[in-house]
Amino acid sequence: MKRSVVILGSTGSIGVQALEIVDANPNLFSVIAISSTGSNPDEVIAQAKKYSVKIVGTIRNADVIREALPGVTVIDGPLASTELASMKCDVVLNAITGSIGLGPTLAAIKAGNQLALANKESLVAGGSLVMPLAAANQILPVDSEHSAIWQCLQGNNRADVSKLILTASGGPFRDRKDLSGVTLAEALAHPTWSMGPVVTINSATLMNKGLEIIEAHHLFAISYSQIDAVIHPQSVVHSMVEFKDGSTIAQASPPNMKGPIALAINYPQRTDAVTAPIDWTQSSTWNFSPIDETRFPAVALARHCGAVGGALPAIFNASNEVAVAAFIAGQLSFNQIISTVSSIVARFEGSSIPTLRDLSDVSAIEEDAKVATHLLISKAAI
Ligand code: MG
Repeated sequence: MKRSVVILGSTGSIGVQALEIVDANPNLFSVIAISSTGSNPDEVIAQAKKYSVKIVGTIRNADVIREALPGVTVIDGPLASTELASMKCDVVLNAITGSIGLGPTLAAIKAGNQLALANKESLVAGGSLVMPLAAANQILPVDSEHSAIWQCLQGNNRADVSKLILTASGGPFRDRKDLSGVTLAEALAHPTWSMGPVVTINSATLMNKGLEIIEAHHLFAISYSQIDAVIHPQSVVHSMVEFKDGSTIAQASPPNMKGPIALAINYPQRTDAVTAPIDWTQSSTWNFSPIDETRFPAVALARHCGAVGGALPAIFNASNEVAVAAFIAGQLSFNQIISTVSSIVARFEGSSIPTLRDLSDVSAIEEDAKVATHLLISKAAI
């Protein structure tokens, strides 16, 4: 029996790599539905034809897609991915970028589907809503660090865990002293990982690591004081778990997202030859060093927002989404991305932080944070 897979964000970096895994394993997977923004309708149409997909979700260009795909059901509008996530299937891969992925995450969980989760913002913004609804092993992490931790935890008693240690490549500016003149092209040139533009910028500011600390807190139900992050430039050790007896288990493989994607969509099976293994006949060096939190203030800010909790992580993430877009548009300098987010967080903390009861609470507070960030940016000068 093939595993039926729904892929949300099929034209993004993770979605495309998931389809390549399906290509390489036609006997294992059947893609029954895909969704994307529809900004590139030709790619959506080509994917739907190639994988004989029955249902396509899109935000834009629904008419073009519908016309090109007779016999395929095209669901359009902002709730298309949420609708696809609740379809009966073996696994939903949520590879949407941004906290817009929270609705589909909640829908997949509520429908009882397994959820291969690449959308970390779901847990950053709405972890307190998502986790109480999820059964054990219903959420299968696709983020490479969390996949590593999850693998290291297999067969171990959670009570024996003393610490989770996330690794970070350090991004393109790991060794650069002055980050004030960083250009967009420099920020987009990641040394070890090939990813979409938002996560690549988030890796350059280390915001990505901050978001991942919050993600780990929710996924593994562990306190922030038990989550560390270290720089590991080679991106081969994807994360580690330290146990109370002083032993540490690490997961290692060359940097390639196909490993975590395949493990999540084919759980509990491992898939043949997804990535080339480490070549142990070649000498290599693995380095680990602490994060410079002065040059990269996003990590401490994330920890702070996570520890305060309530709506603050959602505010933090929403503000960052706007600030990153403004950096890409040339409206903010690189260092202004996190200083802007920090100002917004401080402003919201000045009044009482609401708790989150449901998805509409999250959307409302995110909208407030986005408006406030836009306003602040419109006043800022590079
Ligand atoms: Mg990651």
